Amino acid sequence: MSADAAIGTIPERLVDPQARVIDYLRVSVTDRCNYGCVYCIPDGGVAHTERAEVLSFEEIAALVCVFASLGVRRVRLTGGEPTARRDLVALVRLLRAIPGIDDIALSTNGHLLPELAAPLRDAGVDRLNVSVDSLDADRFRRITRRGDLARVLAGIEAARAAGFSSIKLNTVAIRGGNDDEMDRICAWAWARGLLPRFIEEMPMADGRAYQPGAHVSAAEIRERVAAAWPGTRVVADAADGARGAGPARYFRLDGGEGESAPVRRFGIISPRTEHFCTTCNRLRLSTAGALHACLAYDDAVDLRGPLHAGGDEAVARAIRGALAGKRDGHTFQLIGLGGPRKAMVQIGG
Ligand code: SAM
Repeated sequence: MSADAAIGTIPERLVDPQARVIDYLRVSVTDRCNYGCVYCIPDGGVAHTERAEVLSFEEIAALVCVFASLGVRRVRLTGGEPTARRDLVALVRLLRAIPGIDDIALSTNGHLLPELAAPLRDAGVDRLNVSVDSLDADRFRRITRRGDLARVLAGIEAARAAGFSSIKLNTVAIRGGNDDEMDRICAWAWARGLLPRFIEEMPMADGRAYQPGAHVSAAEIRERVAAAWPGTRVVADAADGARGAGPARYFRLDGGEGESAPVRRFGIISPRTEHFCTTCNRLRLSTAGALHACLAYDDAVDLRGPLHAGGDEAVARAIRGALAGKRDGHTFQLIGLGGPRKAMVQIGG
C-alpha cells in the first residue's frame, strides 16, 4: 500500500481540535544562519540554542519515526540555515529511510547550494524552497546583511541541474525594499521553470525586526504583478505540481500578451491579510526538540525529555498534548501586537 493510501488507515493519526489533519512536520536543524535578513534577525541578534541542547541527527530521526507512525508523511528541513549544519546530507539519508516519510523538502537561502545541491538531491531531498529577496546584488546584500546574490543564483542553477521535483523561490515583500521587483522576480522564475512566491512580512521577535510601513498586502502583490503585464488579470490557480503548497495560495495571470507562454503562476503566503489557519496542516520541531503547534505563539512542548525518559509512547503523548493546544488562528494582523517573542530564525520559518 502506498504511504498516501496508508494514511487513511492509521488509527491514531494526528487530528487537532479544529479537525485539521496534521501530516507535515517542519524540522529546524539549526537556529544559526549565515545570512542576517533585516526582517528576520533583530539588531543585536537573537539567543542561540546551546550546542549541547541541539538535537542530534539520531534524535531527530527517532522523533520523525514517531511522527511517521502518527501519519506525518512530509518533512521540511529548515532553520536558521539548514545547509549550515554540518553533514546535513547524512540527516537526509536517515530521514529517507523512515517508512512512511514520502516527501522531504528543504528551505534554504541558497548560499551553499553550489556545493550541496547535487549531494542533497542524491541523498533524497525532493523539493527545494530558495529565499531570493532581490535580483539586484546590492539590494540583496542590504536585505540579507551579508548575502551574495551571485552564489545564490549559481546555487539555483546547480539545483536545476540536480533535478529536484520542484524549486520555489520565496521573496518577503518589503515596501521600499523590493516591492518594485515583483514582476522581475516572476519573469526570472518563469523563464527557468521555477515557482515564485511572495510572503507578507510577519512581526516575529516581539516586533523587534519589524519595519512599520514595510508591509505589502496580498491584494497589492496581486495588483502589482498583474499591472506589469497589461491586459492580464489574476485568477486563482490550483498550482499543479506545487506539492506541499501548505499555506500558500496560488494564482496565475490570464490574458494579455504572452498568454501562450508557460503558465504565469505565482504564490502568496499571507499570514497578515488573508489568513490560512483553517487549512494549517503543520507542526514545527525546534532545534532543541520543542514542538511548536503555531508559528505565531511561543507555547511549545518538549519532546526530547519524553524521548529519553519514556520512548516512543511518551513522545506520542507529548505530540498529542501539543496538538490539543493548537490554536484556531493567530493575531499577526495586529501589527506589532500579538506576535511571538521567538524569531523566525529560532523556530524555522
Ligand atoms: N534560511 C532558510 C531560508 O532562507 O529559507 C530557512 C529559514 S528562513 C527563517 C524561512 C523563510 O522565512 C525565508 O524565506 C525567510 O525569508 C522567511 N522569513 C523570515 N523572517 C520572516 C518574517 N518576519 N516575515 C516573513 N517571512 C520571514
